[in-house]
Amino acid sequence: MTDRYARPLRDLRLSVLDRCNLRCTYCMPEESLDGRDFLPTSRLMSDAELERLVRLFVGLGVHKVRLTGGEPLLRPGFADLVRRLAAIEGVEDLALTTNAILLPRLAADLAQAGLGRITISLDSMDESVFSTMSGNRGSVGEVLAGIDAAVAAGFSQLKVNTVVQRGVNDQSVIGLVDHFRGSGHTVRLIEFMDVGNINHWSHDQVVPSAELLRVIHQRWPVKPVAYQAAGETARRYEFLDGSGEIGFISSVSEPFCGDCTRARVTADGVFYSCLFSSNGTTLRPLLRSGMSDEALLQHIHGLWRKRDERYSESRNGGGRSSSKVEMFRMGG
Ligand code: SAM
Ligand code: SF4
Ligand code: SF4
Repeated sequence: MTDRYARPLRDLRLSVLDRCNLRCTYCMPEESLDGRDFLPTSRLMSDAELERLVRLFVGLGVHKVRLTGGEPLLRPGFADLVRRLAAIEGVEDLALTTNAILLPRLAADLAQAGLGRITISLDSMDESVFSTMSGNRGSVGEVLAGIDAAVAAGFSQLKVNTVVQRGVNDQSVIGLVDHFRGSGHTVRLIEFMDVGNINHWSHDQVVPSAELLRVIHQRWPVKPVAYQAAGETARRYEFLDGSGEIGFISSVSEPFCGDCTRARVTADGVFYSCLFSSNGTTLRPLLRSGMSDEALLQHIHGLWRKRDERYSESRNGGGRSSSKVEMFRMGG
């Protein structure tokens, strides 16, 4: 099953909640949130609906499911949801993206529930830079405690996502890379993206991965990792001194739409076939209408077949849309 550019459906990013305990300026800047309501609980998909949806997507070729948000750990009963999804035959890779603040409370339950992998977001080791970027909420210390809790619960080899913004945290990237070198965890430096409409994105604030790679290579020589799986978002490099890997997610300077196999569903059940889509398709009424699995499969199949998005590749040709869905709603 492929879309108009012969891309198969392999990954599902499922947003389980649009709320968050941080206010990262590149995602959910506090001052821009005025009047923007979060989803009421009554509009969230239930655990049973999410489980059914994941089963359907598995039937369409999905093997990787990433739980995201907003902040997924804020969803009440999140570990129970993980347990249900982990038990679905065909879900080979069940992953979570989190800001880690609540991991000291939840990591052990999540491991026990069958969660496979955790990606943690951390933008700087410097408390004041962190605070500037998180909207003055949370702290580096809390994120590190979350990382420790994940490791203690058995999640080794974490991924650490760092959004790099020129003039904000670019000067502290080396310190962060230094901290995680040799830890078994892999830092992935992400170019600041023009997702949503409220994060004041400007091209000037994007630090191209090539520039960061040069700086890092000067300090600690690296070489590309020989095997890079298709559909992988990060370009991977390994440190020549054996201290592990570093990844670059370069959706602005080197878009990777050509092998994008990801579908997204928001916490209220809207299907999107691209992170930058303006229009999605609501699945929740169909799930609640008594529609059969077979009919639902046909419906989602049809949505994927007509998928023709390549937003990042057309960005520089004027492909910017003014009414994109916010990252915390769409799911990162
Ligand atoms: N709250 C969780 C977290 O921060 O890990 C999960 C949701 S968050 C939207 C998922 C990822 O998107 C995070 O790693 C975050 O850094 C990234 N992100 C958010 N806004 C972004 C932007 N404008 N450009 C690049 N990455 C962004
Ligand atoms: Fe919350 Fe994640 Fe967005 Fe930061 S990036 S505001 S932690 S959803
Ligand atoms: Fe996939 Fe859209 Fe991102 Fe391109 S811009 S890689 S199609 S999500």
